[in-house]
Amino acid sequence: MSEVKQAHNKISVVEWVLAILACVSFVLLLIPSDFITRNKVIVAKDYGAQLYSDVSQGGQSEAKWIDKENLQWQCRLADKTLSPYCSMQLDVFNYSGQGLDLTNFDRMTVWINYTGDAESVRIYLRNRSPDYYRVGDGTSTKYNVVEVPVDELSAGLTIDMNNIYVADWWLSSRKIPLKYSEPEFDDVVHIEIQTGSQSRQGTHLFQLKRIEWEGTWLSQTTLYKLIVVLWIVCIFSILLYRIVRLNIELKNNQRYQNELQSINELLNFKNKKFEDLANTDQLTGLLNRLGIREALYEGQHKWKSQRQPFSFILIDIDHFKKLNDTFGHDAGDNVLQAVAKTLSNSIRRTDFLARWGGEEFILVCPNTTLKEAEIVAEQLRQKIAAEEHPEVGTITASFGVSSMTEPDLKLLFKDADTALYQAKSGGRNKVVCSI
Ligand code: GH3
Ligand code: MG
Ligand code: MG
Repeated sequence: MSEVKQAHNKISVVEWVLAILACVSFVLLLIPSDFITRNKVIVAKDYGAQLYSDVSQGGQSEAKWIDKENLQWQCRLADKTLSPYCSMQLDVFNYSGQGLDLTNFDRMTVWINYTGDAESVRIYLRNRSPDYYRVGDGTSTKYNVVEVPVDELSAGLTIDMNNIYVADWWLSSRKIPLKYSEPEFDDVVHIEIQTGSQSRQGTHLFQLKRIEWEGTWLSQTTLYKLIVVLWIVCIFSILLYRIVRLNIELKNNQRYQNELQSINELLNFKNKKFEDLANTDQLTGLLNRLGIREALYEGQHKWKSQRQPFSFILIDIDHFKKLNDTFGHDAGDNVLQAVAKTLSNSIRRTDFLARWGGEEFILVCPNTTLKEAEIVAEQLRQKIAAEEHPEVGTITASFGVSSMTEPDLKLLFKDADTALYQAKSGGRNKVVCSI
């Protein structure tokens, strides 16, 4: 009882896991969305830089450094081509040639000091990919571009990475397949600052100070997904744990039950053995006084309830003492066993034979009248008298027969005993019935 109570009071591992998981989920949900951010800063002057202009396309624009160390340059735009430009290209790949991976950033902030009358500036993030990049051909990098107004650039202008697109002229001039027309930022090797598309002829001054990218480590959706996955994994593990444990318990119970069953069988077998031992006479193998008791009570009960006749025969070997004295105790035992065998082979299946003590036997005859019992006794007497025993020759026995007249076993026994006494005193080897 107390064990059961204890089991209920104990907090299981499963409950602990669920409680912890609930706490973790709660804390995760409380995290502000921009709390887990990542960022990357480029100090522009740390990288190699170069200037170029539309000269290669037949233009006459001119780009030159004012202070290369501090990435300050000047562009003199000449209106010679349809779209004149000057560019400053920053090489942002590392020593092993690997560009910047900006895939997981959401925003880009750019600080540029600009002097001039242009309204916008173009910023290119030029990405490399084996799908379209050809070694030695700088323009084969993908031109991811955004054109931004110059006004706020000096204070730092934040641009959503989603607003960056792939330059049309690049897609069309290089005949890029449609599947590569989306912006890519996984290997950005050059950052390019270019005069805006509407810039007019004249002088434009630039200084690139700093570029910074920012992104969240964990978006709100990813966070929710993570929590759901955590719960699914947890519930699945708990179920698995329960199934495995139940299986083990089931097997243990089965084994325990089997053990109990075999112990029970053994005990039953031993009980039966002891019962048999207690009810059996060791010398003859017949029932003993204890063993015959049930048959006596049963006979009495049937007589009482159904008036079923019930008879009783006492058998006593004649001059057995003398036989013992003459031929020895062992010969006496052999005779007892032989007589027991003869009697049990000769009785009806419904009768019960027992060794009452010494050289006396008792035959309980249910549903048998005194007359019928007398006939049975006479047959037995003749059989015993006819049998030859190797050591002692022939023997005889006397029989006292009684039948129940009152529901009293003592009286039944007394009547049989009296009849037996009469058989003895009448010369032995006789059957006498009680009157
Ligand atoms: P009666 O004809 O009047 O019955 O005489 P009896 O000698 O048979 O009767 P009594 O009661 O005087 O003697 C019975 C003898 O049976 C005495 C005892 O030594 C012997 N006896 C009792 N139990 C055993 C036994 O288990 N084995 C042997 N060999 N003898 C036994
Ligand atoms: Mg006797
Ligand atoms: Mg005797």
